[in-house]
Amino acid sequence: MRAMVLKEICPIEPGGKEPLELVDLPVPAPASDQVLIKVSTCGVCHTEIDEIEGRLVPPEFPIVPGHEIVGRVHALGSNAKRYKPGDRVGVAWIHSSCGRCPFCRRGDENLCDDFRATGLHAHGGYAEYTVVSEAFAYPIPEPFSDGEAAPLLCAGVIGYRALRLSGIKSGEVLGLYGFGASAHIAIQVAKHRGCKVFVFTRPGQKGHQDLALKLGADWVGVTGEMPPQRLRCAIDFTPVGEPVREALRVLEKGGRVVVNAIRKVNPIPELDYAKELWHEREIKSVANVARQDALEFLPLAAQIGIKPEVQEFPLEQANAALLLLKHGRMQGAGVLRIA
Ligand SMILES: [Zn+2]
Ligand SMILES: [Zn+2]
Repeated sequence: MRAMVLKEICPIEPGGKEPLELVDLPVPAPASDQVLIKVSTCGVCHTEIDEIEGRLVPPEFPIVPGHEIVGRVHALGSNAKRYKPGDRVGVAWIHSSCGRCPFCRRGDENLCDDFRATGLHAHGGYAEYTVVSEAFAYPIPEPFSDGEAAPLLCAGVIGYRALRLSGIKSGEVLGLYGFGASAHIAIQVAKHRGCKVFVFTRPGQKGHQDLALKLGADWVGVTGEMPPQRLRCAIDFTPVGEPVREALRVLEKGGRVVVNAIRKVNPIPELDYAKELWHEREIKSVANVARQDALEFLPLAAQIGIKPEVQEFPLEQANAALLLLKHGRMQGAGVLRIA
């Protein structure tokens, strides 16, 4: 099968070495509890950039990245019975967890010590086929095309988890920092819930600001600006450190900043306790996703009519897609078309 693989840590730079290489790999055989999926599309996520550039190092090379996988069940392991061949399923960042530890038993499997991630600890979706335990594959709701469904599986699911952890309620003011794949889906959920949404981007991101306004943003501005009202909650979707402090500076007392990134490319600037944290302001990170997030979010996305904006690329152009994403030039979500 055709697959784009990462063989070693490599910076992603224009004109530099292409980090992913097209290779021919054997089609994997499903273990007894697994399904073999013929991949149709796979989303391109900022976490791939962290893996490629070495902020989140895969334990083994080569690795097939990609954790927003949409495809059809092609074959079943000997004990797999949840799906039948031809069923459309998705795979998200959580590839498996132990199922026995206290975190797993209380539904916080995203925090399991044995959490294994798709495309990091196990081969992912930048390939024609992939395998996953049937318990970690989700039915894809009817209205979404394969291209639209891909970004729902990370950008969408993790944005949903971040919204949940923010505790934002109807009528409250939510700030979104960074307006890429995840934020452009989260805003649709937040508007559906009746929140007021303010969107902050880096300077010169008119395309992202226009998309935010089209999707219902009540105000758009640049990170560091004072919005028309203080924020009850902010979600930071950016890969950089500064928005965490900037969001704290424009929070209400008792407000919360949720940080939605596995790694930051640069540190969070030093905080002034009296000005930026005092008055019960909080910072909370979002770590991975649990199956429950996907099982709740996918039907909800269909029910409220979420429309992901996607930019598609053939599998072979994964390197070009990653470069666009790194430099903030992707509109909405990038998706690789495999079949
Ligand atoms: Zn992701
Ligand atoms: Zn566990």
